[in-house]
Amino acid sequence: MSNINDNKTILIIEDEEKMSRFVELELQHEGYQTETAFDGRSGLNLALKNDYLLILLDLMLPELNGLDVCRRIREEKKTPIIIMTARDSVIDRVSGLDHGADDYIVKPFAIEELLARIRSLLRRTELQEKDNKDKQTILKFKDLIIEKENRIVRRNDEIIDLTKREYELLLILMENINVVLSREVLLQRVWGYDSEAETNVVDVYIRYLRNKIDKNHDESYIQTVRGTGYVMRS
Ligand code: CA
Repeated sequence: MSNINDNKTILIIEDEEKMSRFVELELQHEGYQTETAFDGRSGLNLALKNDYLLILLDLMLPELNGLDVCRRIREEKKTPIIIMTARDSVIDRVSGLDHGADDYIVKPFAIEELLARIRSLLRRTELQEKDNKDKQTILKFKDLIIEKENRIVRRNDEIIDLTKREYELLLILMENINVVLSREVLLQRVWGYDSEAETNVVDVYIRYLRNKIDKNHDESYIQTVRGTGYVMRS
């Protein structure tokens, strides 16, 4: 039941079973998957073990209180957390946010308000992730480094001179480590959607790229996935 890796599930950590059930049913009705924990410790264990879309966290919990759960999750993970606090206490809210929660809601709440906050937090998280990715200026794969700002590529500290297409091809591969990219996808992303280039141009450029980045090195970094495309595997 708790073997979740697809990041579509909301974890509800709440000891009041009625409350938990109510939220769970409403979330399921909205199309979310849910999982529940009824005390702080098992909630924390689940939160650390699985990748959840979001966590709803009550503060007053048996075993381990919500603030500690929140802090411990934050030490390891960025999963969005909304705190549900029974007391309309400024201190609870402030310390919840201090401990790394992203938002809070005061019980009792209208389910529409909770749903709106979930949507808004997920939107914010998505934008943040995109922003972080855009801002990430240095990409590393073993001894191969791309400095995006200066468009410089180095392997083992030696600068590699790439053409614009070769650079863009390498950048996409490095931004998608362990993801197999098909020739079609590479063609679209590097040559553009309306390009009349054929997919075998990708093979040609991969060869150019390999000749440059693997020159004088034993290990070839770009792998061919037969019949599919290319990947850089870590
Ligand atoms: Ca409680």
